[in-house]
Amino acid sequence: MKKIQMVDLVSQYEKIKPQVQSSIAEIMDKAQFINGPAVKEFASSLEDYLDVKHVIPCGNGTDALQIAMMALGLKPGDEVITPSYTYIATTEVIGLLRLKPVFVDCDEQTFNISLGAIEKAITPNTKAIVPVHLYGQSCDMEGIMELAEKHNLYVIEDNAQAIGSDYTFGDGTKKKTGGIGHIGCTSFFPSKNLGCYGDGGAISTNDDDLAAQLRMVANHGQSKRYHHDRIGCNSRLDTIQAAVLNIKLRFLDDYIAARRNAADYYDKFFSNLEHISIPHRADNTKHVFHQYTLQLSDDIDRDGLVAFLKEKEVPAMIYYPIPAHRQKMFDDLQTDCGELTTTNWLTSRVFSLPMHTELEEDQLAYICESVKTYLES
Ligand SMILES: *Cc1c(COP(=O)(O)O)cnc(C)c1O
Repeated sequence: MKKIQMVDLVSQYEKIKPQVQSSIAEIMDKAQFINGPAVKEFASSLEDYLDVKHVIPCGNGTDALQIAMMALGLKPGDEVITPSYTYIATTEVIGLLRLKPVFVDCDEQTFNISLGAIEKAITPNTKAIVPVHLYGQSCDMEGIMELAEKHNLYVIEDNAQAIGSDYTFGDGTKKKTGGIGHIGCTSFFPSKNLGCYGDGGAISTNDDDLAAQLRMVANHGQSKRYHHDRIGCNSRLDTIQAAVLNIKLRFLDDYIAARRNAADYYDKFFSNLEHISIPHRADNTKHVFHQYTLQLSDDIDRDGLVAFLKEKEVPAMIYYPIPAHRQKMFDDLQTDCGELTTTNWLTSRVFSLPMHTELEEDQLAYICESVKTYLES
């Protein structure tokens, strides 16, 4: 059996190595490191894939979120509703821009931001909602878009974990995540479902005016050469990374299928076990399994399980052990969000198993048996 890894990027690379190497060699030969043709080509291919009018590539997923909030002209003190149960980047940029993060609880089944909790948190100062499609499935976007429309709020989707996922509205319309809110943000960090070989990110929108602002903010607030109309930043996708992404985007649906196969295998095994619950799959979204995250019942020692798996050379991770609302970084921002009972409970009970495109059946069987051995000991 091949050594089990949380994410196996080497085996995935082996399968596309000649294409990647020749694309990178071409860029090296022409020294087209910044804004080379591969960047435009990728933006256009991703527009097609997501079915959106504009994709603006940028330096990473965190920048994408920051640029989105800057482009919307949000002002210090404006309230932005966000889940606490997410990767820190989502909430950190809210604080960085001196906006006020309003942390709300998540749904206990999907782990995604709770619609009811959003509604309760809306005040006259609320300007935006940032739903995070956690672990790879869409939030309740129909409900979120309705609330946003009713209260005149912007919706910025954090699609870093869910590129390729979709959401089906009540009337049967289906849209890809990242193309539903006013702005979508994603990351091409190597371990993401569509990952490059360094840092990368992108912002998407269907709004022409917003697209112009997003482009400006990502490029020093520049409207035309040496005319800087607003404060921006410098955030670009390297040509080499765009070239890698041009190749990998063609395989994204295959990659997703491989992840879903692994998830099916895990589901089948763990659904018959006690003390553990498999990830819930909501009906109106396609889960693309950025993570495969299980919940343990109270009688199981989670740290003990992770340590036991480590001994068996099965990597396991806890995403995320400390929710955003309990992070020290927000101490000086007044974030009176109450208890967030589901978030607190989940962060103490979840754990994630290896999930990537190259998992083999003997590895999956070994992982499952190892978990079972601990649960039954
Ligand atoms: C990875 C991730 C980000 C940040 O992306 P980077 O490219 O690492 O900056 C933001 N939000 C979520 C939910 C993520 O998983």
